[in-house]
Amino acid sequence: MTIDTCNFKGQKVIVRVDFNVPLDENGNITDDTRIRGALPTLKKVLAGGGALIIMSHMGRPKKNPDPKFSLKQIVAHVSELLGAPVQFCDDCMKAQAQVAAMKDGDVLLLENLRFYEEETGKPRGEFATDDEKAAAKKVVKEKQKEFTKTLASYADIYINDAFGTAHRKHASTAIIADYFDTDHKMFGYLMEKEVAAVNKVMNDIKRPFTAIMGGSKVSSKIEIIENLLSKVDNLILTGGMTYTFMKAHGGKIGTSICEDDFLDLALDIEKKAKEKGVNLVLAEDAKCGDAFKNDCNVQYCPSNDIPEGWEGMDIGPKAMESFAKVIKESKTILWNGPAGVFEMDNFMAGSKAVAEAICEATANGAFSLIGGGDSVACINKFGMADKVSYVSTGGGALLEAIEGKTLPGIAAIKGEA
Ligand code: AMP
Repeated sequence: MTIDTCNFKGQKVIVRVDFNVPLDENGNITDDTRIRGALPTLKKVLAGGGALIIMSHMGRPKKNPDPKFSLKQIVAHVSELLGAPVQFCDDCMKAQAQVAAMKDGDVLLLENLRFYEEETGKPRGEFATDDEKAAAKKVVKEKQKEFTKTLASYADIYINDAFGTAHRKHASTAIIADYFDTDHKMFGYLMEKEVAAVNKVMNDIKRPFTAIMGGSKVSSKIEIIENLLSKVDNLILTGGMTYTFMKAHGGKIGTSICEDDFLDLALDIEKKAKEKGVNLVLAEDAKCGDAFKNDCNVQYCPSNDIPEGWEGMDIGPKAMESFAKVIKESKTILWNGPAGVFEMDNFMAGSKAVAEAICEATANGAFSLIGGGDSVACINKFGMADKVSYVSTGGGALLEAIEGKTLPGIAAIKGEA
């Protein structure tokens, strides 16, 4: 079943959203992007004549209740954006009476699911031994069944629209789906878009396919890089990880960041790329600074010949040109991680050049997916989010999908769990 074909009239519909929005010290929402992201799905249920039960987590509460993480703080804003009154249930396990009283078009927001450790299935607190922890986990897992069953009992239909938590096998993101047959569970619109975008870079690939992986460390991206090596035509490795590759070949990298334990791995990645016919592209030159701050002295150097006391903090003009050429000739593009220390204005030009090339390729018909933390911050900083095909809302979830892992939240809806 899909959200577009489902008849919601007279049905109680429980929707898992990601309302884990940042709040200031007074409980005011500082960025409501995640709430806005779920609106099309929520409005669709209401327009279709359903009664809407919304559930989400917020933060990492340590107790029940934990007022700092109460979803009560966002009720008024959700109501305003949705254009409908929103009732609140201050205990997600005690909504039976409120749910029973709901009529078509009513909206009920449940209190933070993570007030209960059953949501994640992970016991809270400190444990003296591993055995104690394992025993506590067993107890929580057992209680999780009842917790999930109670959530499921509220509704006729389950919708998952929380891509940000799709990589977690939690009660509300995956396990609950077992209580609904395939005609009564589905993705929300946001989730549908994310799944379609991932599919375009993992399965339905138009070539050439170029992945740009940046950021600080190669170690945190190994699994993604290895998975991408069997998919892409071009792999641009940039950002801080450049210097691990340069040093692995005996290059001089000054004080640039480098993971000495991963020099062999860098060589291995290069070898595998060659075997698989992947064009591995590294930055030829670097914009270097004599201190890790915006207003330091700068000079351009070959990436493998950086003087002592200088640090590669962005790619240089030659690299910008060669990266842009590869990107502009691509038909599928995936970007994760900046090309330099983009937070500092003097070292953001490389990331901007990458973003501009991606926008140009997109205008020429390429599919471009930007995702995973800092590249999203980058594309937003440059005001170019509307010039790429898709900006993912899910950091960890997107990265696990690119690593080739099955996401429990997606598998559960598809009935593959
Ligand atoms: P990651 O979380 O691994 O994706 O890394 C993102 C961070 O990498 C950003 O905060 C960037 O400032 C940083 N970064 C990118 N290029 C460099 C570089 N050449 N040296 C140090 N940090 C970098």
